[in-house]
Amino acid sequence: MTVPALQLANVCRAYHQGENTVTVLSGADLEIRPGEMVALVAPSGAGKSTLLHIAGLLEHPDSGEVFIGDRATAGLDDLARTKLRRTEIGFVYQFHHLLPEFSARENVILPQRIAGLSVPEADKRAAEILGFLGLSHRLDHRPGELSGGEQQRVAIARAVANTPRLLLADEPTGNLDPVTGDHVFATLSALVKQSGLAALVATHNLDLAQRMDRRITLKDGRIVPLA
Ligand code: ADP
Repeated sequence: MTVPALQLANVCRAYHQGENTVTVLSGADLEIRPGEMVALVAPSGAGKSTLLHIAGLLEHPDSGEVFIGDRATAGLDDLARTKLRRTEIGFVYQFHHLLPEFSARENVILPQRIAGLSVPEADKRAAEILGFLGLSHRLDHRPGELSGGEQQRVAIARAVANTPRLLLADEPTGNLDPVTGDHVFATLSALVKQSGLAALVATHNLDLAQRMDRRITLKDGRIVPLA
C-alpha cells in the first residue's frame, strides 16, 4: 500500500479565551493518498482554517499526530517543521499573494531558490509548470498585468514549485467569477492527477466539491464524509 501523503491521527485542538474554551477538533482522523483530491466543506467557524493550518504544520495540535508522508511531525522542532513545510507542502489561498514587483516566472523561481535550487534549475522548472498551467505566453508578466484566473494559476504554480507531496488550498477559486473559477479548478485538477500530488481543498462551492474524489466535513470535532 502506498503511504498516505497526509495523515491526521486523533488530532485535538481547542482555543481558550478567558473562561471560554472552543473545542474545534476532538479526535480528528484523516488520510489523503497521492493523487487524491479531497473537498473540505463546512460552514464558517466549523474549523476549516484550523484543520488546514494543522495539516500544513503552521499550527500545533494540542494532541494527536500529523504525518506528512511517513514523517511523524509532533516531535519536530520549528526548524524541522519549516523545512518539511517548504519541501513537502504547498499552499494556495483565496487571494493570490503573489509578489507584485516580480514576474510570473520569478514568483515561481523564488521558493525554489529558498529550497536551494540553482537559478537555471529553478527557471527550467518554473517555465515547465507555468507551461503546464497554460501560461507559457505570460512568463514575464507581473501579477498586475495578468487576469484574476492567470494570477491564481501562477499562485498554483508557485505552490507546487518544489514538487510538494501535499497541496492545501483555502477557497482557491473563491475570488473568481464562475467561468474563470471553473477553468482554474480544471487546471488544478489536471495538475493533481498528472503529478500524483494529494490535495485538500476547502470550498463552499458544492459544484466544485462534486468534482473532487471525496468530500469531507467537520462534525463535533471529527472529520466525517459529507452526507
Ligand atoms: P473556519 O475556517 O471553518 O471558519 P476556524 O478554524 O477559523 O473556522 O475557527 C474555528 C473556531 O475556532 C471558530 O469558532 C473560531 O472563532 C475559533 N478560533 C479560531 N482561531 C482562534 C484563535 N486564535 N483564538 C480563539 N478562537 C479561535
